[in-house]
Amino acid sequence: MNKNPKKLPDSKGHFNGYGGRFVPETLMPALIELEKAYKQYRRDKNFLEELSILQKTYIGRPTPLYFARRLTEHAGGAKIYLKREDLCHTGAHKINNAIAQSLLAKKMGKTRLIAETGAGQHGVAAATGAALTGLECEIYMGSEDMQRQSLNVFRMRLLGAKVTEVPVGSRTLKDAINESLRDWTTNVRNTHYVLGTVFGPHPYPVMVRDFQSTIGKETRQQILKAEGRLPDCLIACVGGGSNSIGLFYEFLTHPIRMIGVEAGGHGIGTGEHAARFAGGSLGVFQGCKSYLLQDDDGNVLGTHSVSAGLDYASVGPEHCYMRDLKRIEYTYATDEEALQAFELLSKIEGIIPALESAHAVAEAVKVAPTMPRDSIIIINLSGRGDKDVQEVARIKGINL
Ligand SMILES: *Cc1c(COP(=O)(O)O)cnc(C)c1O
Repeated sequence: MNKNPKKLPDSKGHFNGYGGRFVPETLMPALIELEKAYKQYRRDKNFLEELSILQKTYIGRPTPLYFARRLTEHAGGAKIYLKREDLCHTGAHKINNAIAQSLLAKKMGKTRLIAETGAGQHGVAAATGAALTGLECEIYMGSEDMQRQSLNVFRMRLLGAKVTEVPVGSRTLKDAINESLRDWTTNVRNTHYVLGTVFGPHPYPVMVRDFQSTIGKETRQQILKAEGRLPDCLIACVGGGSNSIGLFYEFLTHPIRMIGVEAGGHGIGTGEHAARFAGGSLGVFQGCKSYLLQDDDGNVLGTHSVSAGLDYASVGPEHCYMRDLKRIEYTYATDEEALQAFELLSKIEGIIPALESAHAVAEAVKVAPTMPRDSIIIINLSGRGDKDVQEVARIKGINL
């Protein structure tokens, strides 16, 4: 490693040409206010103490680092550990960011949170943060997604959020994001926009990464305690990229192999996937310059993945930078491989993983046998699979 991978972004949020702030002029004051507040509170003792208590008593941190003995024996090589983000309150790592942003919004004197959601997972996390901090909450969701994810719509409403249908465009996530940005522009005085991953305009990619980097900090202590040394390889799935950078960030300056796994869907050749690095090119999307699945005219392409959380046309700008530095390797797992890993981990460890996380498990099972038996792999198990069992049954043609 000849460059310090933590040197960027610069003060404008540029990771060597990626990232930045590609938003209408009307949104700039909101982003500048947020950046200022974040800079202040990230060093504020009271804020950090309150956040730490909520991490412990509400989210359930630290999450365990579990040695997967049977998975290790099955793969036949490196020792495989699982960082159990699936055991977080609400079942995935997204809550780490949602709670921290809710608390920040409260400190900033905001009375209202808005968020966009596709599959509903980030919407549920944001609604949970709003309930916890006593803030009003409105979630934007495409009509198409609202129909597909009616259970999560009901969950958000139970949590006290208003769910607003976005009946325009493709009526999915990207339309919901546009609508949220419009709302924020109008209501910035009392409203905070909770963005769900390491994407969007500066300072979101940095702020969300910092809030998720608890994962790696805990993991470092836990593996030192369990093995007396740092791991050889880290593996995590990459949607927007928050759970992966959350695990990796603490280890970036150590000579440890890191692998980010994108959604290969039906295969790169079919065009039905969400592997931005394997099939995308540089573009601007939702306030950020990054790798993007787009056609020759710059129109954003439809994506496909069996896992809703990885089904996104672009990827966090810091990941593009890490890829250029060759600090993190990026690969993909297909739907088929993820489904096999989903069943494998369920049967062999008694842990039903989120389909997103199953992509990382699939890669670990490929890599482990190529490594010596005394080497160590850590997989970030980003979420639990209860939300996916119905979909898996449907795919397998099983009537429940
Ligand atoms: C949303 C989600 C992801 C993908 O988002 P990242 O920002 O890439 O972490 C992965 N796993 C689970 C369980 C999710 O809910």
